[in-house]
Amino acid sequence: MRVVRFSTGDAPAYAALDDDSTRLVALKGDPLFQAAEPSGEIFELDEVRLLSPVIPRSKVVAVAKNYHDHAAEMGGEVPATPNIFFKPNTSVIGPDDPIVLPPWTNEVHYEAELAVVIKTLCKDVKAADAASVIFGYTVANDVSARDAQRNDGQWARAKGFDTSCPLGPWITVDPALDPHHLEVTTTVNGEVVQSGNTRDMVRGVPELIEYISAAFTLLPGDVILTGTPAGVGEIVDGDRVECTIEKIGTLGNHVVRR
Ligand code: MN
Repeated sequence: MRVVRFSTGDAPAYAALDDDSTRLVALKGDPLFQAAEPSGEIFELDEVRLLSPVIPRSKVVAVAKNYHDHAAEMGGEVPATPNIFFKPNTSVIGPDDPIVLPPWTNEVHYEAELAVVIKTLCKDVKAADAASVIFGYTVANDVSARDAQRNDGQWARAKGFDTSCPLGPWITVDPALDPHHLEVTTTVNGEVVQSGNTRDMVRGVPELIEYISAAFTLLPGDVILTGTPAGVGEIVDGDRVECTIEKIGTLGNHVVRR
């Protein structure tokens, strides 16, 4: 099953979408916070606007350099312990929302990443228990201003500016989905620029949840970005960037400089 957040012009609402279906079964309320109960309304996928499937109440926690080939292209190695950072919930946008390049950067990159959506308030989760706190998976683009990332010391601005966290197009809820065997692909203007597989993550999802939850209480709707494979590169005004994760979906956004 997939969970979408959508709008038909009114307030955002949630719906469930069976695999291989385009029929949205609208839900009462937010399925992260209450039992999924149909509202009685049915929509077709192409007649609604999809929104970011989740706006985290508290945080997006992201992991840097979790693939050897990406660490190498950034001129380093995978750190001895995971290097983690935050993206604020104000950086989150949905499918087809514009990535707006800030005036203070001239070097913005895409980074396709598997995103984990947390379902349960939790702390000090052992890796063996991680599955019990996962709601599902979505696609993220960890949009990064490389010049600010190099120059600022902290990454808050470089990786936390408004529109720097596209998420979507939905949350895939499937306890049988193995998050460690999924192709990760990015295209810019239709050309494949990034191609990897989550099997090459240095630290897998359970290990990351154990490490992160040892530091922070995680809340329902918090999101963990698991790092990007090699092939990162620049996006500029007018580009269309699409990040695809096998068995989950494709997250597309256009890029504008205002
Ligand atoms: Mn990243």
